Parts: sequence; structure tokens; C-alpha cells
Amino acid sequence: SKKAVLEPLVGAVDQGTSSTRFLVFNSKTAELLSHHQVEIKQEFPKEGWVEQDAKEIRQSVYECIEKTCEKLGKLNIDISNIKAIGVSNQRETTVVWDKLTGEPLYNAVVWLDLRTQSTVETLSKRIPGNNNFVKSKTGLPLSTYFSAVKLRWLLDNVGQVQKAVEEDRALFGTVDSWLIWSLTGGPNGGVHCTDVTNASRTMLFNIQSLQWDNELCEFFEIPMKILPNVRSSSEIYGLMKAGALEGVPISGCLGDQSAALVGQMCFQDGQAKNTYGTGCFLLCNTGRKCVFSEHGLLTTVAYKLGRDKPVYYALEGSVAIAGAVIRWLRDNLGIIKSSEEIEKLAKEVGTSYGCYFVPAFSGLYAPYWEPSARGIICGLTQFTNKCHIAFAALEAVCFQTREILDAMNRDCGIPLSHLQVDGGMTSNKILMQLQADILHIPVVKPSMPETTALGAAMAAGAAEGVGIWSLEAGDLSAVTMERFEPQIKAEESEIRYSTWKKAVMKSMGWVT
Ligand code: ADP
Repeated sequence: SKKAVLEPLVGAVDQGTSSTRFLVFNSKTAELLSHHQVEIKQEFPKEGWVEQDAKEIRQSVYECIEKTCEKLGKLNIDISNIKAIGVSNQRETTVVWDKLTGEPLYNAVVWLDLRTQSTVETLSKRIPGNNNFVKSKTGLPLSTYFSAVKLRWLLDNVGQVQKAVEEDRALFGTVDSWLIWSLTGGPNGGVHCTDVTNASRTMLFNIQSLQWDNELCEFFEIPMKILPNVRSSSEIYGLMKAGALEGVPISGCLGDQSAALVGQMCFQDGQAKNTYGTGCFLLCNTGRKCVFSEHGLLTTVAYKLGRDKPVYYALEGSVAIAGAVIRWLRDNLGIIKSSEEIEKLAKEVGTSYGCYFVPAFSGLYAPYWEPSARGIICGLTQFTNKCHIAFAALEAVCFQTREILDAMNRDCGIPLSHLQVDGGMTSNKILMQLQADILHIPVVKPSMPETTALGAAMAAGAAEGVGIWSLEAGDLSAVTMERFEPQIKAEESEIRYSTWKKAVMKSMGWVT
């Protein structure tokens, strides 16, 4: 059959905590042509531990690419029009693998994992000089969240990892590195690299010099020889070595939150977006300035779209548990069968009836950074039912966002006039309306929700040697938006918010 002649297309891998996707966009309008998605298993081998199978992650990417290509074929779209591929990924999740066999040496230790709590406590007592040692270089607090301590744990506790390091066979990477190395050939010439945004989440990377930091590597006792090369977020790293897209350059790489910032076109100083996935991440572009927070936010690399392009920074408010609380209601309590069902339950009651749910399953991240917190459901009465708990879970996501937005407004000085949102949870209209009510500003959502993938595709398509888009020329303009306006009185949302804060206080100090 004759295939329609088409403009160049760009593919994007979006490897998230809950699922992997591959998506293909056209270049004229960045319209999504086809995609495929596979859910990823999470293992909880011990309390506080979260692991994933790095091989399953790799396999899911191959599967999504092949299935998407089949779907394009059925649409009569010639896959040879795909001219570049971008990668966006769950950040901080740590993989160590054997460069000779191409096999992981342990499960991927997921960003949410808390096993390094005692490592963090020991290390905090050893911080050289002033307490600002880690933060001034990396923009991050010393926390279980970031890769360096996860890697430290693997070196200390997994004999195979230590042995492979001694025998010069070990490579470390976050999920982007693991995937790019595998996709470009693995043991047969795979490229071992990462981009500045992912590197900035390892706690080993100096975000001002944009290099691995000797002193940090010494402090965490990490051998520098196992670290990937750090590249910009938009350049050709290598070519696909196998499969339907063999030979296509991989030319974009961004941590998922940076990718969403790019995909939402937040290129100006002061523009912000909030992504609701497993966790919730509010990033505000601070331009070329590295702004350090006074209110519990992180400083992170936003993007560097080309080898010779300037680096942009962001302030970030990270919430560990957002969509994960919905998945927990599904998998652990079984009160819903699918995540979407939560909306129906919440709608039935339209209120939490004084019930508050603080989902501090992995301690609290921004703005508290309190590892001792654990989840609580409080304010229960004889009247409370599963619908109220469902509603409280959605409200919790909104209150946590309110806390980071408040912190962001204090750090930036200029309050946000509206909130741009995206991510898997934003298909929930009750959640979006609640969010507008609790923030008391409009919530604005692009009609094409796959902004993370779009950001990675944009980086790939704009790379030197690919040249499908010029982002500086504004080849892609903002898309159509759906708006949610606040519908309750400010006083009412203030009362609810202050009760939430009381609940948060009660969640702290559970683990000593
Ligand atoms: P990630 O990028 O972290 O993999 P996604 O953006 O794919 O996450 O979003 C998936 C998360 O959103 C899951 O935790 C899921 O429980 C939650 N979710 C998906 N749909 C809904 C919905 N309609 N209402 C509430 N939560 C949802």
C-alpha cells in the first residue's frame, strides 16, 4: 500500500515511575500521532524500600517503541519519517550495571526509597566545614531522595556491585543513562552519558560549574570512573542500535520535570508548571540565575538546550506522594479498581466531611524535608466512609501543592497569577477544581496532556544536526488550554488549609 508522504516526526520515550510510554509527534503542530503505554511494577521488599526491575524498564521501552510503530503503520504513517528520539525519565532512581554483560547488578533503587535514612544521618554528622556544603554545590538538601546515597548503599551492601567496580565492569546511571546506553548498543558500543538536568539530581554534580564535583565524590566515597559523561539536554548522543527505529538519533534527554517545563513552554523567568504524577513537582524557571531557597525548595538545572547554549535554572517544590496515594487506595485498600474510579467516589460526597489524609508514606519532602513523618488519616467519625477518604486523598494533593506554591511565592517575591498543570492525575476534573479552590488562583491545563514527552521531543527535534525545530524562533507556540476558576470563598479555603496544617503536624515524629 502507498504510504502518505509526511513531514518529519519526532519520538519520545517517557519513562515514569508508574509507567513507560513512547509517543510520536508531527513537527508542524507538535500533534500527538500515536503512542503506547505499559505499566511498570514496583516492589516493596521491606518497609520503606521501593525497587523496580531495570530489565523490565528497558524491555518496556522496547515494547512501547515497537507497538507505537505498529500503530503508526496501521494509520498508514511511514515510520522512516521519525527523525529523532528524545528521552525523559523518572529522576534520581539509581541503576548500576555490568558493561560487559549489559545486565543490571541489582534492582533499580527508586527515588522514593527510604533505606538510606541511617546513611543520611551518619553523613550529615560528617559534613565538612559549614552545613551548606552539599546545598551550595548541588542546590539540594542531604536527603534519601537523591542518587548519591542510593549508590553509596549499593556499594556498601551489594557484593556484586563492589566487585564489578573493582574489576572495572560497573557503570552507574539514572534511568536516562541506563536507557540511552542500552538503546545505543549496550555492551556493543553503548554510549554512557546523562544530561545536566538528570546529573543535577544525583547530589554529585556541581550545578554552577556543570561538572561532577571531586569533593562531593570524596564525601560520598563514589568512584568517579563509574559516572556517565554529562552532556547538554539537546544534542545527538548516539543512534538507535536495533528495532524498528534502528539508526534514528537519540538527541534529547531531560529529567521528567524539566521535560514538562519545556513542554509547557515555560522559557521565561517566573514561568512555572506543576506536574501531578506519582509525586507532584512544581518548577519555576529562574532564568540564568541560580536562586537558593529560604523556604525548603530545591535549586535545580532546568535545561541546557544545546552544547553551546546557556544553562537555565529552576526552583523546585517536590512532593513525594500524589498519584501514589491513589495507587495505594487501589492496590493496598482495594476501595477502587482503577485510578479513574477515585473521581466517582469523591463526586458522590463532594466533601471529605472533616477527614484529612496526610500521605507521608516516604516522610515529607518540600517544604518540610521531614523523614520522620508517616501517613495519617484523621478527623474520622462514625459517619466517615470510603468516599470521604477518597475525597481527602485528592484534597491532600491540592494542599501539598498549596504549601509549595506558598514557598515559591515567598522565594520569588512575585506571586503566580495562575498555575499551569499537567501529568496523569490532571484528567481528574474534581482534582483540578479542588486545586483552583484551594490555591485561589485559576488552574490552567493544556489540551494535549503529554507535556513531558513533548518536552523531550522538542529537545530532540531542536538538536544540532537534527534541526527540525528552532525553539528560540518560537517554532512551537502555546497550545489551547482548559481553565478551572476558583469557586469557593477565600476564607473557606483558608480554614480548610489551616486544618490541613494541623494534620501535617500530627504526621511528624512517627519514626525516631
Ligand atoms: P508518572 O509520570 O509518575 O509515572 P503519571 O503522570 O503517568 O505518573 O500519572 C500516574 C499517576 O496518576 C498514578 O499514580 C495514578 O494513580 C494517578 N492517576 C491516574 N489517573 C488518575 C485519575 N483520574 N485520578 C486520580 N489519579 C490518577
